[in-house]
Amino acid sequence: MIYLKTREEIELCRAAALTVSRTLGLIAREIKEGVQLSYLDKIAEEYIRDNGGLPAFKGYSGFPATLCISMNQAVVHGIPNNTVIKDGDLVSVDCGVKLNGYHGDHAYTFCIGNVAPDVLKLVEVTKESLMLGIEACKINGHIGDISFAVQNHAEKNGYGVVRELVGHGLGKKLHEKPDVPNFGNRGSGKKIKNGMVLAIEPMINMGTKNVKQLNDGWTIVTSDGKPSAHFEHNVAVIDGKTEILSTFEYVEEALQAVHR
Ligand code: MG
Ligand code: MG
Repeated sequence: MIYLKTREEIELCRAAALTVSRTLGLIAREIKEGVQLSYLDKIAEEYIRDNGGLPAFKGYSGFPATLCISMNQAVVHGIPNNTVIKDGDLVSVDCGVKLNGYHGDHAYTFCIGNVAPDVLKLVEVTKESLMLGIEACKINGHIGDISFAVQNHAEKNGYGVVRELVGHGLGKKLHEKPDVPNFGNRGSGKKIKNGMVLAIEPMINMGTKNVKQLNDGWTIVTSDGKPSAHFEHNVAVIDGKTEILSTFEYVEEALQAVHR
């Protein structure tokens, strides 16, 4: 069942989403060559708890950490461990927060140092796919409109769209109905209504769309070992309009400061 939210509940979702946005902003300041993934996880958890939230991924189906950090050929659900970030790495950071009973869940893919031009393009196109998916999220349209917009842009650029993992509704639960696939046809799926809160999250592979799970029981990687990128925003439909609840503003500010 799709649980439609009241205006008040959407504001609680927004507060949780913005806590994730600020956490990603903190990560953007700290992420660089030589940094251990477990350090990023530690500062994220501290920041979230200091701001009255709970790390929503930690303990979710037994996931051991606050962040999902997925590098290079890893698509999503990577476990932050003692791996050290190197020049040229592609690092997707996904974060979930529960604040005052409601969830935020969004993700950014960071390019560390000298990333190959074809990988930079993958990242750009994945981010564009997210924004096109959001533009296609319109009241009285269908979830498939979002799916089509994401898939069309990614495939036009020759990339593979992951099928096994999809976006989702969120609110009191981290994952709610409806599913928001990154592939599909216009006009298919559930109708988009006021009060829907959705996590739209393209997972786009440079090569094959096929993925597999590592023996750690979590990390999803591309079957061909080629890189994958992932961006995620939370949106809500309020009074007939789609609003983005999360923001990359904090990340982008931090990245600009680092590169100045
Ligand atoms: Mg999500
Ligand atoms: Mg996420």
